[in-house]
Amino acid sequence: MEHQGILVVVSGFSGAGKGTLMKALLKKYDNYALSISATTRKPRDGEMDGREYFFKTVEEFEKLIDDDALIEYAKYVDNYYGTPKEYVENQLAAGKDVILEIEIQGALKVKAKRPDTVLIFVTPPSAEELKKRLIGRGTETMDVIKSRLRRANEEAKGMNGYDYVLINDDLDKCVDELHSIILGEHSAAVRNETFIRKITSELKGIMKGE
Ligand code: ADP
Ligand code: 5GP
Repeated sequence: MEHQGILVVVSGFSGAGKGTLMKALLKKYDNYALSISATTRKPRDGEMDGREYFFKTVEEFEKLIDDDALIEYAKYVDNYYGTPKEYVENQLAAGKDVILEIEIQGALKVKAKRPDTVLIFVTPPSAEELKKRLIGRGTETMDVIKSRLRRANEEAKGMNGYDYVLINDDLDKCVDELHSIILGEHSAAVRNETFIRKITSELKGIMKGE
């Protein structure tokens, strides 16, 4: 197996349950590193700087862009969001599978830069359930919920560009499915070129020794 970890992007409609899913995945399995994004959005109740996000002013965020410190960034409903480069690269080099929980524009930018990235789109089983979860979370006003649903309508058009669609109905099942997808990716032939070379060379050696 190659030593380098796999870069995984998880996207999905706001309210699909991505945050909940990530928490459950990290609790159950230990080879994952979750990248913490920078954002200009204000913290929600209970969110902590450096845990959910690195909360930045617009000026601070624009400095990160100028310093080329982000793998990608995008604007989402009036705020900047971006992925700090250093952490991701260090964790991948250490053999961790790194998860970026980012929206679709950022996902496509990462895939263009690194085609071996696995893109996974998380969705609830229905639009009605999405609305229910957004309202049930109780963190946004009805106006913001409406703009997030409008955004979801746009994002649905991009689902075909993802490698996998993951339906988050039963949370535990969804966690295991996500883990299985990533495990499966580890077995892809393109990710095992070192092993392929090794066994090819061993077979040659055995033939010589016969
Ligand atoms: P996202 O990070 O995609 O915006 P959240 O993780 O904040 O979504 O989840 C949105 C709401 O839906 C939360 O209140 C959460 O508890 C709930 N939720 C998440 N997954 C499920 C699920 N499988 N079944 C029912 N409710 C869920
Ligand atoms: P929220 O405000 O609900 O935390 O996130 C809004 C959207 O921004 C979500 O779709 C989330 O996945 C996305 N997002 C979070 N971090 C990043 C990031 O670093 N880059 C991009 N492109 N999107 C992000």
